[in-house]
Amino acid sequence: MSRYPRQLSGGEKQRVAVARAFAAKPDIILCDEVTSALDVSVQAAVLNLLQQLKEDLGTTYVFVSHDLAVVRAISDRVAVLYQGRLCEIGPSQNVYKFPSHPYTEVLLGAVLEPDPDIKPKLVAEDIVEEKPPEKGCSFQGRCPRKIGDICNSEVPPWQIGENGNAIRCHINIEELASLQQ
Ligand code: SF4
Repeated sequence: MSRYPRQLSGGEKQRVAVARAFAAKPDIILCDEVTSALDVSVQAAVLNLLQQLKEDLGTTYVFVSHDLAVVRAISDRVAVLYQGRLCEIGPSQNVYKFPSHPYTEVLLGAVLEPDPDIKPKLVAEDIVEEKPPEKGCSFQGRCPRKIGDICNSEVPPWQIGENGNAIRCHINIEELASLQQ
């Protein structure tokens, strides 16, 4: 109470932001990159605080992050976006254990392992895309599983797999599962 904002640490400022967000007792809170500027120990403290408040108050978070470990720690359901468009959505455990969409597979495969001999199974084209394609699949320019012109011309349909994950892809979801083995 006695300090100015500039006298607070990053973690303290984040706790004040959390308190301010909860002051109006909302049912839903948008958490946009809430841990990105914090060091790992403070990240853990803020995540624990958010988790505790969620359990105590039943609040829903829409949690936006590029940090896959943080998303895994806090989420019940995960939605994966590429170029601002949904690729895959499903229960968090399923998306991490059994990624179905090629982009999710590439994304999770890019997490570095502490062993130089472990390489990602699937790698995307290494090009910079400045804007989403006007037609077709948002991942068409980099997809290592692209099947042809249909990916460039038609928006892929939604499909739901047996594991509960929903994806948008022109490849049948069962066929994708067999390609990943
Ligand atoms: S629709 Fe085509 S380009 Fe898009 S993810 Fe599926 S295979 Fe790849």
